[in-house]
Amino acid sequence: MGKPTGFKEFDRKKVPWRLPVVRINDYDEIYTEPRVEHLREQGARCMDCGVPFCMSSTGCPVDNLIPEWNDLVYNDRWKEASERLHKTNNFPEFTGRTCPAPCEGSCVLGITNPAVTIKNIENAIVDRAWSEGWIVPRPPAKRTGKKIAIVGSGPAGLAAADQLNQVGHTVTVYERSNRPGGLLQYGIPNMKLSKDAVQRRIDKMTAEGINFVTGADVGNTVDPKDLQQDHDALLLACGATKPRDLPIANRDTPGVHFAMEFLTANTRQAIHGDSIGDEFISAEGKDVIVIGGGDTGTDCIATSIRHGCRSLVNFELLPKPPAERDDENPWPEWPRIFRVDYGHEESEAKFGRDPRQYQILSKEFLTDNEGRLRGIKTVEVKWTKDAEGQWAMSEVDGSEREWPAQLILLSMGFLGPEQYLAEAVGLEVDPRSNFQAVHGKFATNIEGVFAAGDCRRGQSLVVWAINEGRGAARAIDIYLQGASNLPAPGVTMGTSLEMAGA
Ligand SMILES: Cc1cc2nc3c(=O)[nH]c(=O)nc-3n(C[C@H](O)[C@H](O)[C@H](O)COP(=O)(O)OP(=O)(O)OC[C@H]3O[C@@H](n4cnc5c(N)ncnc54)[C@H](O)[C@@H]3O)c2cc1C
Ligand code: SF4
Repeated sequence: MGKPTGFKEFDRKKVPWRLPVVRINDYDEIYTEPRVEHLREQGARCMDCGVPFCMSSTGCPVDNLIPEWNDLVYNDRWKEASERLHKTNNFPEFTGRTCPAPCEGSCVLGITNPAVTIKNIENAIVDRAWSEGWIVPRPPAKRTGKKIAIVGSGPAGLAAADQLNQVGHTVTVYERSNRPGGLLQYGIPNMKLSKDAVQRRIDKMTAEGINFVTGADVGNTVDPKDLQQDHDALLLACGATKPRDLPIANRDTPGVHFAMEFLTANTRQAIHGDSIGDEFISAEGKDVIVIGGGDTGTDCIATSIRHGCRSLVNFELLPKPPAERDDENPWPEWPRIFRVDYGHEESEAKFGRDPRQYQILSKEFLTDNEGRLRGIKTVEVKWTKDAEGQWAMSEVDGSEREWPAQLILLSMGFLGPEQYLAEAVGLEVDPRSNFQAVHGKFATNIEGVFAAGDCRRGQSLVVWAINEGRGAARAIDIYLQGASNLPAPGVTMGTSLEMAGA
């Protein structure tokens, strides 16, 4: 334990983000360089609890050894902290930047005081490891002769590839996009996770012998049967990319887009400089409405602001969350409280207000005489509990309203994986249309075919995708070799954060 009295001496202080008024002018990451002394003090706040709930089933899904590296940071032993961190997490710079940190929701200090800044410490350890040159390609000493094909290069596919390659199997990752990374590349914007950080890992993995094939749409341009024939195992890690639509009047009006169309095109053009012509969707000078919250909604807000939108509103169907945990949401569950994310801060800086409007139901997209999008009609809703204690929604009479908009972005979640690959392979799917496979085994109904990540569990989190990729790698190693030294993922349930649908 770093400093026995640290939790009494030091307050929680997060590493600050760059000022909103400055950062909205570029696509650079929002983070600032942390001071070492700041991180040591935050590490010193860790109480090295007998039962570290930050690592429990409500805490970190990859079982990060949090109290150990908090102590190492406090004692200035950064290289060992990095080694300890990489034992459980293949890509701490991805989680250190994007994870909502269920560990902090479960931190024991959080019962009486603000939690330890675990995520900041994780990010600082791995950033330091990269800048000191401690992370270098380490190809396996010998190869097993077994070949594995992975479909999808998001965090699940990448984590599985990394694990399987480390034990000597030969891994090829097939990706239908023009660049690897999955939603790390084309969902989460550069401001939150720089594409240089994604490419740096891909480069390291390539140097270690992993083969990436882009522009390979398996089930479409590549026959999965060929992959099954040419490899000893096939892992499907193709995400849950089918967006939830809003089938109200005038849905087909130009100017109404899925969030991912907007975000992907932006990263391709603004970050990579791809010439994508009409595929680019500009928010410049427009009144923008984002329907739906969560990370995707926030990313649409932040990107629209960088385009120079004229106004910005974000509709949420649910009521505004409380400022503090309520009685039905006790520690160590994920706190379902009101939060201000980077996009909301930026809206405040640019327009003088938080963009969120709660309890709003969209009724109809509005068009002008020439069929162009001019706005949206909404109604307010109220939520009440019925006799069985279930929440029920009803419309508020007389609350209809029209909002001007020339660009409307749909960010209402995802409905599972696209089905063409499942059909081509002959996979069974579960009632939510996810690929059927049990966590821990990851085996589908087809011999030698495994599934992991969002395509198995539904749209989730980067940290869960890493958990599943690591777990599937172990299951495949056992399938191929009869036994495995790869670690088993420790938790099998969704965290309370995931179950809350955050
Ligand atoms: C906009 C957005 C922002 C998000 N922000 C966060 C965040 O801040 N923090 C967080 O923890 N989570 C966030 N998430 C969720 C997180 O990104 C996902 O849970 C995670 O990326 C899932 O990983 P995966 O590897 O299972 O799938 P994905 O990352 O979706 O990767 C799947 C890959 O498979 C490829 N693919 C699909 N079908 C085929 C095929 N037939 N052939 C070849 N390739 C194929 C896809 O092109 C894709 O590249 C966000 C999601 C979105 C949409
Ligand atoms: S991966 Fe997420 S849950 Fe795990 S320690 Fe890092 S921030 Fe916390």
